[in-house]
Amino acid sequence: MKFDVVIVGAGVTGAMLARNLSRYQLSVCLLEKENDVAMGASKANSGIVHGGYDPEPGTMKALLNTRGVALLYRAAEELNVPCIRNGSMVCAFSQAEEAHLEALLRRGAENNISGLSILSGDEARKIEPHLSGEVTKVLHVPNAGIISPYELTIAAVGNAMDNGVSLCRNFAVSAIAKTEEGFVVTAESGETVTGSYLVNCAGGNADKIAALAGDGFFTLIPRAGEYMLLDKAEGYKAKHTLFQCPSEKGKGILVSPTVHGNLLIGPTAIPVETENSRDTTPEGLAEVVELSLRTVPSVDTRQVITSFTGVRASEKSGDFILQESKTVPGLIHAAAIDSPGLTCCVAIAECLTALLAQAGLSLQEKESWDGTREDICAFREMKDSEKDAYIKENPAYGKIVCRCETVSEGEILRAIHQNPGARDIDGVKRRTRSGMGRCQGGFCGPYIMQLLSRELGIPMEQVTKSGEGSQMLIGELN
Ligand SMILES: Cc1cc2nc3c(=O)[nH]c(=O)nc-3n(C[C@H](O)[C@H](O)[C@H](O)COP(=O)(O)OP(=O)(O)OC[C@H]3O[C@@H](n4cnc5c(N)ncnc54)[C@H](O)[C@@H]3O)c2cc1C
Repeated sequence: MKFDVVIVGAGVTGAMLARNLSRYQLSVCLLEKENDVAMGASKANSGIVHGGYDPEPGTMKALLNTRGVALLYRAAEELNVPCIRNGSMVCAFSQAEEAHLEALLRRGAENNISGLSILSGDEARKIEPHLSGEVTKVLHVPNAGIISPYELTIAAVGNAMDNGVSLCRNFAVSAIAKTEEGFVVTAESGETVTGSYLVNCAGGNADKIAALAGDGFFTLIPRAGEYMLLDKAEGYKAKHTLFQCPSEKGKGILVSPTVHGNLLIGPTAIPVETENSRDTTPEGLAEVVELSLRTVPSVDTRQVITSFTGVRASEKSGDFILQESKTVPGLIHAAAIDSPGLTCCVAIAECLTALLAQAGLSLQEKESWDGTREDICAFREMKDSEKDAYIKENPAYGKIVCRCETVSEGEILRAIHQNPGARDIDGVKRRTRSGMGRCQGGFCGPYIMQLLSRELGIPMEQVTKSGEGSQMLIGELN
């Protein structure tokens, strides 16, 4: 198949680019090596909309963070993605750290961020009562927020598909050749697609994709961040996202509510071998516990319901790489998209679209473009009387499958059929929250497997947890 633009990688960068390109009269194909979208850093991160005080002024990170916050809030609304402007606080515990807050305040002003202020520890504790008595001052960042990063990515891909973009899953790019036809991109399976332009949004593999395309001028440095997600019973311990002072290692351990009411603590910043080094470690989690208790001493870390690791893809310059190749015309890189890449994703998509236009891509707007998307879980927000009427029309919504998170069969069917449809148990989980509660899918898992089997027309033995190789059953017992 021949496309105008082929995008490698369906993380939030590729997803937002696909959505932005779907505004125009173009054929666009999004390639993803996994069985679902949002399977790299876009699945496992802090989910913070960063206020913009941290990036070095003049860098791409600073420019795109400043522009990106408002764009992201707008996209979240259009795509019906959970997102809350809860604000953040950077906490100082000493005079030296107070001086750091002053420096961040100045940097924020240089980056054109408004609304920043420094509060005393007592002023901060009035609005954040569980904050440690050791906190002496905070930088208050009212425009910061929290968002569900994988739901954002899923929604952006779904919206792009609704507007004509093709998604190829299980397409692990293993060769790229530039021919007269364009970029011929081959998967490990032998499948090929061709594109006049190629955009490299491959996250932690972006250096390998660049090398395959004959332009391997950078090397990514993987750094793991370990987290613990605590039960909703702990969610009330922080209203704002509470950071410690950033260092050269990163933005520090945070304590933050999530959009779904849990409490998130982490991440560490540990150099690792590869972007696939996603195990949690006893040492990493011990660090998460110790440092988060410093900010909020009353956090009950025994309320942990899961732990996970995300891997940052950084580059030695410390900035994003957003540019057309100097040696391979038509090849655009979106690489080293580490933090605040989620915050910047819509601004990055705009920037990549401009780079494609500079490279010669013609952008003719479509009249039919619709940038909105219906929320799979809208049913939950309905009043009881509305739910009653809805269930009469759609009886599957009256059957609760996941008791911990109160997810109905109707929502699960929707998740399987709405673009980009869930193909495995974890895909259903990311779209509906089924299995994300205390029992972690112990109760609802088998029934979700039956629904996947029935709706996808595959035997139960082929239903997977998360793509090929994770089959749950090996056969029937007689
Ligand atoms: C621990 C941590 C915390 C973070 N916290 C925040 C935060 O709070 N706020 C914020 O703004 N940013 C944060 N970030 C940064 C943010 O997560 C990233 O900037 C963003 O997710 C990058 O998205 P991406 O699409 O570029 O990469 P990814 O999400 O990694 O996507 C790349 C995709 O490419 C696919 N791929 C790779 N190789 C191939 C191949 N050969 N063929 C086909 N497909 C391929 C992968 O499977 C993947 O789906 C954090 C990152 C980490 C790791």
